Amino acid sequence: NKEERTMREFKKSSKLDNVLYDVRGPVVDEAARMEEAGTHVLKLNIGNPAPFGFRTPDEVIYDMRQQLTDCEGYSNAMGLFSARKAIMQYAQLKHIPNVNINDIYTGNGVSELINLCMSALLDTGDEILIPSPDYPLWTACATLAGGKAVHYICDEESEWYPDINDIRKKINDHTKAIVIINPNNPTGALYPKEVLEQIVQVAREHQLIIFSDEIYDRLVMDGEKHISIASLAPDLFCVTFSGLSKSHMIAGFRVGWMILSGNKAMAKDYIEGLNMLSNMRLCSNVPGQSIIQTALGGHQSVEDYIMPGGRVYEQREFIYKALTDIPGISAVKPKAAFYIFPKIDTKKFNIVNDEQFVLDLLREKKVLLIHGGGFNWKQPDHFRVVYLPRIEVLKKATTGMAEFLSTYHQ
Ligand code: PLP
Repeated sequence: NKEERTMREFKKSSKLDNVLYDVRGPVVDEAARMEEAGTHVLKLNIGNPAPFGFRTPDEVIYDMRQQLTDCEGYSNAMGLFSARKAIMQYAQLKHIPNVNINDIYTGNGVSELINLCMSALLDTGDEILIPSPDYPLWTACATLAGGKAVHYICDEESEWYPDINDIRKKINDHTKAIVIINPNNPTGALYPKEVLEQIVQVAREHQLIIFSDEIYDRLVMDGEKHISIASLAPDLFCVTFSGLSKSHMIAGFRVGWMILSGNKAMAKDYIEGLNMLSNMRLCSNVPGQSIIQTALGGHQSVEDYIMPGGRVYEQREFIYKALTDIPGISAVKPKAAFYIFPKIDTKKFNIVNDEQFVLDLLREKKVLLIHGGGFNWKQPDHFRVVYLPRIEVLKKATTGMAEFLSTYHQ
């Protein structure tokens, strides 16, 4: 009879078994519980500029408002002509070779396109080189697609640049591609030409696809210049990702793109797969696409933030000093983006579990950080700080951390 029937239980797909995405995981859930209970949490955990008072230029909002009524239908699956033309010009300015309009895809943020690229490429057993630490979506999407994420080390002793020897050691017959994140999340590193050339050389020797996540390419400080790795690899197949989430502070609008370049002949079949998946999602959100031309062609307000006196620049100066003044914490000064990935002296504090460390800090000082493990960093000796909040908030947070660490022992 009906009453005695046991309830059916729905389990998540086993495809998710090894997928890790802790930047929105248990520590963040705990912070949300604390907030629901009325506790104010200082959130230094997510790279979402708008809630911290960063605004997109008015002209971008104006443009979207004007166009909204024309954006009701689906667009071409790859994106609006005007948007892709503007991205083509951006590719040209970055010296990305052999790009035409059909090499450009818009996406609901870079996130959607990362997922699409991994799904279209990886079969079970295929390997892809991903940095450690990484932006964990790369590892998660590669794993979800059935591939094997093989992590290469970025070396803190060398400004967090990729360790070329480690990359070489980890390549085998199953390796299909290498991912670089430049400028880097979570380290804030910016890779110079010599480092990029070495990566290209390795990719060339082993005929690897290069995926380059460049979403922070316009958040570069100290007069440095960002170089797209694709500009150095006309003979290889490259996919370059960027968007407006960070450069125009509109992460919520979900505007990203990818650019195929270089030797497209070697990826003919893969590109068919990309096109199929791109068609299957119909198109990315059209209001978001509608502002790309104005955003790329208009006033680049991000420049004001990254100059001395600008918020991102000054907040970086503050956070670097405040953190490295705390006994037991050291850090490489970030050059780009808005993250810092400090090292914590695990011996001094007897830290064996980095997630426990950030949870203890959260519960005691109401400061929310993400542990290094959330970025596929294997030792329990790092954490990431987002320095988007204003200096007053960063000051409160770092004062709290210093107090906490003056007595902390795991
Ligand atoms: N890639 C990196 C390195 C990021 O840090 C982020 C967001 O934080 C993304 C991609 C996702 O960006 P989008 O908002 O375009 O999906």
